[in-house]
Amino acid sequence: MTSIRRVLVANRGEIALRVIRACHEEGLDAVAVYSEPDRLASHVRQADAAVLLGPAPAAESYLDIGKLIAAARESGCQAVHPGYGFLSERAPFAEACANAGLIFVGPPAAAIRAMGDKTEARRRMQAAGVPVVAGTAAPLRDPVDARREAKRIGYPVLLKAAAGGGGKGMRLVRGETDVEEAFQAARREALKAFGDGSIYIEKYLERPRHIEIQVLADRHGRVVALGERECSIQRRHQKLIEEAPSVAVSPALRRRLSEAATAAAGAVGYISAGTIEFLLTPTGEFFFLEMNARIQVEHPVTELVYGVDLVREQLRIAAGQPMRVHVGGTPLHPRGHAIECRITAEDPFNDFLPATGVLQYLRVPSGPGIRWDAGVEAGDEVTLFYDPLLAKLIAWGETRDIAIQRMRRALGELIMVGLPTSQPFHVRVMDDPEFLRGELDITYLERAGARVLSAPPQPGLERALAVAAALEADEQRERTSGGDGRDGRDGQVGRGGPSPWVIEARRDGLRGELE
Ligand code: ADP
Repeated sequence: MTSIRRVLVANRGEIALRVIRACHEEGLDAVAVYSEPDRLASHVRQADAAVLLGPAPAAESYLDIGKLIAAARESGCQAVHPGYGFLSERAPFAEACANAGLIFVGPPAAAIRAMGDKTEARRRMQAAGVPVVAGTAAPLRDPVDARREAKRIGYPVLLKAAAGGGGKGMRLVRGETDVEEAFQAARREALKAFGDGSIYIEKYLERPRHIEIQVLADRHGRVVALGERECSIQRRHQKLIEEAPSVAVSPALRRRLSEAATAAAGAVGYISAGTIEFLLTPTGEFFFLEMNARIQVEHPVTELVYGVDLVREQLRIAAGQPMRVHVGGTPLHPRGHAIECRITAEDPFNDFLPATGVLQYLRVPSGPGIRWDAGVEAGDEVTLFYDPLLAKLIAWGETRDIAIQRMRRALGELIMVGLPTSQPFHVRVMDDPEFLRGELDITYLERAGARVLSAPPQPGLERALAVAAALEADEQRERTSGGDGRDGRDGQVGRGGPSPWVIEARRDGLRGELE
């Protein structure tokens, strides 16, 4: 890669590390950026250089375009990789990079803009022959306008923010009497979240699947689709578990989805890795939902079944080189099955309330078919300043069943002590009959959430996990304190000695069994 030697990684957490690793494999230097509380974070320690941006609030650090451009220049970078979230889909950031003579590792600003406004994106997609959900082509003027359009489309309808993201400014309306209130609420929420209160209407589809297609486009005129990901397991529009391929997508449907996705990317002059999201109805119809003009959290499942490294491809494409995949037009087929569980700092038994604390102990799963993409290490403090995503556990297997067995085994190996995480939720989903049958749609969690989370803990696995976690943490304390019950770091007596779990485990004679 001649034009790029050093890349500024304008992000934090697992995706920053993911990009740093790709840079190193491509023989490039990676420069990290960080906020004050992230001083010792793993992305900072694994980079070749690091630049302090400012205090904890993202607006004063990871979202400050001026500081990031200055950091890239001062550290001698030729390119900037935005990761996902933060500034990754902000056209002004892509433009600021270009103006500063820096290569933005992502799509052109114009493509980000076209896809960022959802009504504009819908118009463009329709023009390109991509199916879109019935709805309005332009933002609604007022509740009267909303009522007229809803009647034309037919209830139920969904009010959506044109500038939307993360499910904000979205309201389901089942009948005429609810329009006014929903419209005002959606507008207020959109204005607050995006500084833009434009609202439009879509027909609400009953129990569709969320199916998305990964695309890659280079500057040599090639756009390829790398199959689908099934992302129907969501909570408040946030994905929790993703897999590739989807049990609902036949080779023929995959071909049609891929054609629509490449047409969509082509219609906006897309370059780099991107994702076209679709809703797939139970009858097999699909509709364009939106495009994510960036690398996505769930990209690893595609990497595992298609044998590509999407972040390395992004770097090559940014440097003006042709992409490595699909050379000579060989058809691409998924091989085996991959599943990703997002391990977040959220308490699944308390309505997924975001959790904070110090990750006192971490045992990372490994072995056949397992990939662990994490942004945290033992000893890290988790705060409320940033996204709760701590790590992604990804399992590959020759079949879906084998991938699930591996995921179960790996979730059993994973030990995180110090704060609640979504791990127990995943443990339970991996045993849920509907999940095992692949009966998924975007309402899965509404139906299954109560079932999987209220079910009594599995006597074997969950108890063993809790006991093992406590024993490991106890051992760790003994190791660092020289075995005298004192905390090695501050000379104080270790926090309360062995935990109740350890005492109980010892009483039960479980210790020998688990060691
Ligand atoms: P955002 O950009 O805010 O995430 P999206 O348009 O991507 O909004 O939609 C988020 C989620 O909302 C989808 O994954 C799906 O679960 C649901 N959704 C969106 N549009 C519809 C629709 N027309 N019918 C049913 N569900 C929808």
